[in-house]
Amino acid sequence: MRAFGPVPSRRLGQSLGINNIPPKVCTYSCVYCQIGKTIELSTQRQAFYTADDLAREVTEKVDELRKRQTKIDYLSFVPDGEPTLDRNLGKNIDRIRPLNIKIAVITNGSLLNREDVRENLQKADLVSLKVDAISNKTWLKTDRPHKSLDLKAILDGMLEFKAIFKGDIITETMLLKGMNDSHEEIKRIAEFLTTLKPQKSYISIPTRPTAVKGVLPASDQALNMAYQVFKETLPKAEYLIGNEGNEFGFSGNIEEDLLGITSVHPMREEAVKEYLKKAGADWDVITDLIRKGLLIGVEYQGKNFYLRKLPGKD
Ligand code: SF4
Repeated sequence: MRAFGPVPSRRLGQSLGINNIPPKVCTYSCVYCQIGKTIELSTQRQAFYTADDLAREVTEKVDELRKRQTKIDYLSFVPDGEPTLDRNLGKNIDRIRPLNIKIAVITNGSLLNREDVRENLQKADLVSLKVDAISNKTWLKTDRPHKSLDLKAILDGMLEFKAIFKGDIITETMLLKGMNDSHEEIKRIAEFLTTLKPQKSYISIPTRPTAVKGVLPASDQALNMAYQVFKETLPKAEYLIGNEGNEFGFSGNIEEDLLGITSVHPMREEAVKEYLKKAGADWDVITDLIRKGLLIGVEYQGKNFYLRKLPGKD
């Protein structure tokens, strides 16, 4: 089935996934890939499925969900590989457009220096781009690209796309321990993103088994540092460490609220105190969450922050 879900996504709400690439054809072979090893490392655009078949399957799924009154916020190309390798991508978007649901493409952006790819992606409402590294050495190590790819051309392609795209661009940066989590690399990524001006910049870590064994998520300290560095110049930086779809806000459940907020934004100690005051609670709530291993306190530039701790993450 080439249409699946809908799955709750913090970035996209209720997202009906479209799998337009067979497993696993990609331009990258990221060490942290959570859908397994790249089987075909390629930059060759191909037609994997006919636009008729794909549109029919997506339409059937949407009809079925509409009958059950299930909400769909986005139709999202989020395949078992790189979606822009599909030569029919533009045609596919045109064919599902009459369904009248916003369309997203989650791409690594590696083919954005090509005009035909930029043209195809312009048809979407939202495009998510991967920015894991700016220095060539780190990029080669982390994303393990096809040998014909060039990082400078990719980054230029992203900027070129941004200049013509009318929809929303969001970015995702996956942080890995000892690979791309140095202050210097993160600063360079933040500088590039500041020029790109995405609607939102997400910082994430792998939460499922990775393609290469021994690849570890960045430490809580590094995640917090990255968030603070991003925040200096990117007003819409968010921390994305799982817990997709967990909306936050004062719900009356203090523990749930705090865990929801801190899985998106590390909270300054003052903000936590302020929140507790409003909720009529005291610091014992925090002590308890730390004791249960759900929250962690880290320091950055002399200030204390609190972050949601992922189960099983050291
Ligand atoms: S770009 Fe995406 S699909 Fe391709 S290897 Fe990297 S994480 Fe996996």
